[in-house]
Amino acid sequence: MLVLDHATLSDRGRVRQNNEDASGVFVPEGAGELADRGAVFVVADGMGGHRGGEIASRIAVRTVVAFYTANSDENRSDALARAFREANKTIIEESVADSTLFGMGTTCTALAIHRGLAYVAHVGDSRAYQVRDGNIVQVTHDHSIVGEMVRSGILTDEDARNHPKRNVITKSLGAQDEIATDLPEALPLVPGDSFVLCSDGLTAYATDADIAAAVTSGSPAEACKKLVKLANDSGGRDNVTVLIVTVRSI
Ligand code: MG
Repeated sequence: MLVLDHATLSDRGRVRQNNEDASGVFVPEGAGELADRGAVFVVADGMGGHRGGEIASRIAVRTVVAFYTANSDENRSDALARAFREANKTIIEESVADSTLFGMGTTCTALAIHRGLAYVAHVGDSRAYQVRDGNIVQVTHDHSIVGEMVRSGILTDEDARNHPKRNVITKSLGAQDEIATDLPEALPLVPGDSFVLCSDGLTAYATDADIAAAVTSGSPAEACKKLVKLANDSGGRDNVTVLIVTVRSI
């Protein structure tokens, strides 16, 4: 039977006045429901305007959870893709309806766990990692200018963290009518696997090794606290959100 241990923590950081990040978790309570639909976890980092960023990230989290869980017939990857299309559409509709929200957008990274597989869907520069036996693998590609430069070998991860264009993302929910969501191949799970979803407020400071060490040394709740503290102690220039899920049994 699927047993998950999960925690999430979001913090404004040490510089920003508000928190434009959001996270959400939906784990059905009954074993039957959990087997049918699976559990879903989301992190979003909003941008734009005054209130726009906060609203866009919250719409993304709420809409992805609602549409993912609404239907249990569909393949789980298709359910995530549809949920992302709905979130994109809703953000655009709300930004057209209220001029103070015009131009708002958000990153969105989601993880669904269902019948021994992990499904990831992703837009923007928040990230998903898988940690197994202390080894960490980034499951998502950053949709950002520096992310592309790292992939083509022009920048190292360390250079990317300090680059003046580090915050410029190339894809977001709310930017275009058609959204091409990244849907990596489903990952087969083994008990003990952990996943970390996080906003760039964490990866601006924490290396992959820092994240793996935190996840390996404590419970998801302890690791979330440790990583948020690491970001804030290193400068905390952005909002920081961490969500960790450990698969206890499948
Ligand atoms: Mg951010």
